[in-house]
Amino acid sequence: MKKLSLANTPTRIEEIQLMDADLPAHLYIKRDDMTGVGFTGNKIRKLEYLFQKALEEGVTDVITRGAVQSNHARATAMAAARLGINCHLVLQGHRDSKSEANLFLDQLAGAHVHIIGKEDDDPDEFMEKVKREIEEKGGNVMIIPMGGSNGLGSLGYLDCFNEILDQEKEMGITFDTVVCVAGSAGMLAGLVYGNALAGGEKDIVGISVLDTKENITEKTLPPIIDEMNELTGHHVANYSVTILDDYVGLGYAKSRPEEMEFIWDFVSQTGIILDPVYTGKAMYGLFSELMNNHWSEKENILFIHSGGAFGWTREQMEMLLRK
Ligand SMILES: *Cc1c(COP(=O)(O)O)cnc(C)c1O
Repeated sequence: MKKLSLANTPTRIEEIQLMDADLPAHLYIKRDDMTGVGFTGNKIRKLEYLFQKALEEGVTDVITRGAVQSNHARATAMAAARLGINCHLVLQGHRDSKSEANLFLDQLAGAHVHIIGKEDDDPDEFMEKVKREIEEKGGNVMIIPMGGSNGLGSLGYLDCFNEILDQEKEMGITFDTVVCVAGSAGMLAGLVYGNALAGGEKDIVGISVLDTKENITEKTLPPIIDEMNELTGHHVANYSVTILDDYVGLGYAKSRPEEMEFIWDFVSQTGIILDPVYTGKAMYGLFSELMNNHWSEKENILFIHSGGAFGWTREQMEMLLRK
């Protein structure tokens, strides 16, 4: 499958040292937070495939959805701006959400933003409505699913998995475990798929920030894997995955003081920025598993840093500073 080249890849892998913790395993971070500035994070790897298709089909307008502070929406708006495609965002949240962080960048990129309340229209129906309106004016529309997490988008993380295999050879290291955040789970699906194709030797761990383990395993992953099979011609039927749903905490985008404290400790000892919604929660989960000796058999752990620095809102910054 063809894709555009928008992201700075391969992203580097760095070993992390902390001054205040003697980690019982080697911890490495794959810096997918350095895929670009406006493009920062994991979504751009998916968008390289999705926008390739959009260009091939002569699409004039893309529509996607997410939360008000969606990193995916911001990366989509930036990529659309780069490619000269109109971008429409259907964002769920408070109508009076402040124009800050990702939402500000959406507007800066010239995206058409529609904020809908939780009690309002179903976001998928709303996207269909926007699509009809554009089509009536003669536009050619592509709807990108939430998080860019369909089979096509997830190919970006199949590529990332293969990139990791190449980097292992260069570095002379074997990662026994690859840890990522599980949101809409496209990143996880791509890594799981790559691991299955390569013989399934690694433990691929997804740390959920919103959904239950059962939902991710039974409802979210199977259709993405099926679509990837259709696109690649492979027939992955058996794959293994570890999903932890103990670190969702108070719920999506809601932080606990101990998570904020952890983020502060981590960033101040590494110079690597975590965000409160995704990577902060997942890294907190990773450390909890490691320090509680749940992962004593693991030696070389690779965490995929999926970005999110633009997700810090004023409210979250104030919460962190108050801690
Ligand atoms: C979207 C996102 C994730 C989750 O990726 P999915 O493929 O949706 O599971 C993780 N981290 C950050 C910073 C994100 O923006």
